[in-house]
Amino acid sequence: MRLFPKWQRHPPSLGLYARLAARNRPRSYAGKFFAVAFVTLQLPLLALLAWLLTTRTVDRDTWLLPALAALLAGTLLAFRGFRQLVAPIELAAQALRDFLHDGTPAALPQHYRDTAGRLLRDVRYVTAALARERGELEKLAQSDFLTGLMNRRAADRALHEIEGAWPRCVGMLDIDRFKSVNDRHGHGVGDAVLAELGDLLRASLRESDWAARWGGEEFLLLIHASLPDARSACERLRARVAERRFAGEARLRISFSVGLAEVEPGCALDSAIERADAALLVAKRNGRDRVELYAPAG
Ligand code: GH3
Ligand code: MG
Ligand code: MG
Repeated sequence: MRLFPKWQRHPPSLGLYARLAARNRPRSYAGKFFAVAFVTLQLPLLALLAWLLTTRTVDRDTWLLPALAALLAGTLLAFRGFRQLVAPIELAAQALRDFLHDGTPAALPQHYRDTAGRLLRDVRYVTAALARERGELEKLAQSDFLTGLMNRRAADRALHEIEGAWPRCVGMLDIDRFKSVNDRHGHGVGDAVLAELGDLLRASLRESDWAARWGGEEFLLLIHASLPDARSACERLRARVAERRFAGEARLRISFSVGLAEVEPGCALDSAIERADAALLVAKRNGRDRVELYAPAG
């Protein structure tokens, strides 16, 4: 399988280097420079020398001009050859710049065996490894360690990236009297409860909807439905949580309260979340273990 089909086996941009490297002769990178220098600078001079040696009567006017012309042409050819030989270094540098710019791993040939070939291979290998690690770090930075749900930062981003699909509601879910769960059963059990609730939320919501850990024992829900339908979804969740024993403790039951608010088209998400928060406060005030819809005051 070709990992990076973008590159031909011998990219034309590698010019003379690719042609020499394809033949693997001269084998080393320095050897290729030597070959170019020899062919372009030394051969014309050697040819001139041979001609001089075989010609009996030579005067200065006959050989000086061809000698100078050969030297100049040789120098220009050498310069051109050297430029093509450093192409892999330029390619590696460009690949690193591209990687810094857009995070795409470098698509470089990896079959050349000399020093420049090793550079191309290493740049490709290192950028691919860095891209993989960056992906993993991004995943870690977006998920909540305890529940595996999106964390607040990722939820905030996801909220701003949703397109289409109306109506939609946000819900603020808060576990009731969670402090007493910690006090009675210990923080470790409290953690296990949060993780299990995270699993339950993930398993219960439709594919288009999601839950995120907003902080502590608070979860943000995004439900693509009208307020009454979102309420029914939350009531079903409430019933599932009510019948469940958590953290393997026979007597550990929990309940939660939810405040729900509709996100109206054109309405700022932050104010929808504030409304859900206000509804949650009402749910707590009204005795907990319930779902309240946001109702404007007055
Ligand atoms: P209420 O019904 O009013 O929400 O009461 P509550 O006890 O749930 O609310 P309160 O805000 O007083 O306490 C929240 C508790 O949640 C306090 C804190 O110890 C606990 N908590 C927050 N984050 C974590 C966590 O990551 N692990 C554990 N075990 N507990 C947590
Ligand atoms: Mg609470
Ligand atoms: Mg709370």
